[in-house]
Amino acid sequence: MDAGWIRRGFRRALGAVTAAAVAALATVALVLPAGPVGGVERGGNRITLVFVGDGYTAAQLPLFHRQAAAVWRALLSIQPLARYRAFFRMRVVDVVSPHPGLGPGSPLGMRFGCDGLGRLLCADDAAVRQAVARAPGAVPGPRYVIALADSRRYGGEGGGAGITTLSAGGPDALQVAQHEIGHSIGGLGDEYDTAPGGDDHYPDLSRLDARRMRAARVKWWRWLGAADPTGGTVGAYRSANGLYRPTRDSVMRSLGGTFNLPSREAIIEALYRQVSPVDRAAPAPGTVPAGAALSVRPLGPAGVHWAVDGRPVAGRARRGGTSTLSTRGLAPGTVVTATVRDDTPWVRDETFRRAEMTRVLRWTVA
Ligand SMILES: [Zn+2]
Repeated sequence: MDAGWIRRGFRRALGAVTAAAVAALATVALVLPAGPVGGVERGGNRITLVFVGDGYTAAQLPLFHRQAAAVWRALLSIQPLARYRAFFRMRVVDVVSPHPGLGPGSPLGMRFGCDGLGRLLCADDAAVRQAVARAPGAVPGPRYVIALADSRRYGGEGGGAGITTLSAGGPDALQVAQHEIGHSIGGLGDEYDTAPGGDDHYPDLSRLDARRMRAARVKWWRWLGAADPTGGTVGAYRSANGLYRPTRDSVMRSLGGTFNLPSREAIIEALYRQVSPVDRAAPAPGTVPAGAALSVRPLGPAGVHWAVDGRPVAGRARRGGTSTLSTRGLAPGTVVTATVRDDTPWVRDETFRRAEMTRVLRWTVA
């Protein structure tokens, strides 16, 4: 059975924010969740998942926080996001609704039935953006907004304008969230048979069969024939809508599944377009005095490879993935480099790896 259903939506701004919505937004507050769901980091180089809620009264805010924490855990438990969880931090923005559930006066204008699809859940994008912008402690940098609705109906929406919606109390809500984030972060398309055909601008959909894909070197041609974590082999499987997908099944086809290899690569590349594999380098690359201790902290799974005048040397591993190298004893003019690179086999586009997943830091001993 085709469990996936939500096509990539084209949200429409519903126009000006109503006066009632603005009044409700005045109560916006920022909650920094404590404990393991927090993931709060100081400084930049992180992607923020911002949770907002619609239809939650003041008394229901604890419910909203629990649901947001559950979605956060679900998103960061599916690969490849689990491997890259260090890239993310969480923010929760409280929006107090005058009544429980969606309906007239819901501050974020969330509603079902967008674009004529009953299960498509959309929000008033302008109201959502305003709520996020007005929250104290807002952090700069890349972010995805996840708008939770206080509802038990089934639904959600991903992709498009950086806002993912989810009916937080609905059936399979956590699996829906994993599917929708595939749209929002990876720019992925729906792989199920009843998805609209014709549109193949997604990295996991193609008009070409395997032979023509390989010949043209497009889409997931590098993965053709690979053993896939969804269980089969990467190929070009024809859906009933006429488009080809990479694997027999995946989370973009069935809820509760996992991302296939082409989708993992698309997601990882999207992440590296927004953050650097180098989280911290000290001192800053450049000229350093003899005897300086060089220190590099990669972000996530990237490794640090040191070289002195081009010859590889071993660094010293420190807590938190930091690697250090001392310049003691090195002659003036010696060049030390640290190459920070993510060698994950989930990326086969080596041009992308060199450009976005690799950084070379260089110090010269004075
Ligand atoms: Zn979908």
